[in-house]
Amino acid sequence: MFVKKREFPHEVVVRNALLRRLPMNHKKRELIRADNAKDIAGYRGERTLDYYLKPLSNQNFTIFPNLRLILNEQAFQIDTLILTRSFFLLIEAKDITGTLTFDSIFDQFTRTDRDVETRYKHPITQVKRQGALLKSWFQRYGTPPLPFNYLAAFTNPTTILKTNSIDHPENKNILLVENVSHRILELKKANKLDIMSTSEHRKLTSKLLQSHTNAAPNMLQEYNISPQELITGVQCEKCSSFTMKEMERSWECSVCHHRSLTAHKPALLDYFLLISPTITNAECREFLKITSRHKAKRYIQSMEVTASGSKKGQRYHWRGYKQVKSGLPLLSRD
Ligand SMILES: [Zn+2]
Repeated sequence: MFVKKREFPHEVVVRNALLRRLPMNHKKRELIRADNAKDIAGYRGERTLDYYLKPLSNQNFTIFPNLRLILNEQAFQIDTLILTRSFFLLIEAKDITGTLTFDSIFDQFTRTDRDVETRYKHPITQVKRQGALLKSWFQRYGTPPLPFNYLAAFTNPTTILKTNSIDHPENKNILLVENVSHRILELKKANKLDIMSTSEHRKLTSKLLQSHTNAAPNMLQEYNISPQELITGVQCEKCSSFTMKEMERSWECSVCHHRSLTAHKPALLDYFLLISPTITNAECREFLKITSRHKAKRYIQSMEVTASGSKKGQRYHWRGYKQVKSGLPLLSRD
């Protein structure tokens, strides 16, 4: 069974905030958009894999889509983990179009699409590295040594797989997504011996779920962009311009005259995602381009925050990513 939901990549949510707040002629926009497209293709591939794993969910397979764990103060990400009492399996999903060739002589993986050949990271190397990290993580928590299996699943319906070596031992670990569940049942047959008791399996499942952490990427740092390059102010939900002005009881766009009671919320969300998860009253006024301390306080308190300090030194701490998941409008100007 699936023990958690696959989350939409948080990196894409933060990059969307960055695209909203960067001037249209900013030189990094193209790179940021390209990185988003890669992550979205990755997510699409993983969702396709989840669909093909569903038939297994009423058997004794515990499926974790997306785990982000910490080992020696370093985070590592697992796309799909299947845990049973007798083995664990990692699956790397890849949504890549074209003809994919696995060359066993040089251990390389290339894609040919419209006569252009590109080399990619070998998915088996990636999944083995994740497996080694997860093994160390298991050791740290005293888990009995479970056999490790891995697969690379290609999820795009147009993909054609090729290899130059028909008897390479890795060939059986590289497959089209529609064959995944059959292969997992074969692995189950080959790994009959239970290494963990039911209670050990249950404890490990909850330990993994408790240890899962969300990424809090610092995209300004990643793209070497300073906060001064960002557009401040409140964005109009209708025409996307940053021209919402404070009226007596609501916000009004000076371009299209759209009115809103909540336009400050996506703006504060952008602040939390891009600049800092904490904010003071003065920082809020500067970012929303408003003057009233009283209103700034009201706007901050409309978000999920907890306050620390007192009076002028008061700082508000945003409590995580709940708002992101609940789907506040993420307007794009592209
Ligand atoms: Zn407008």
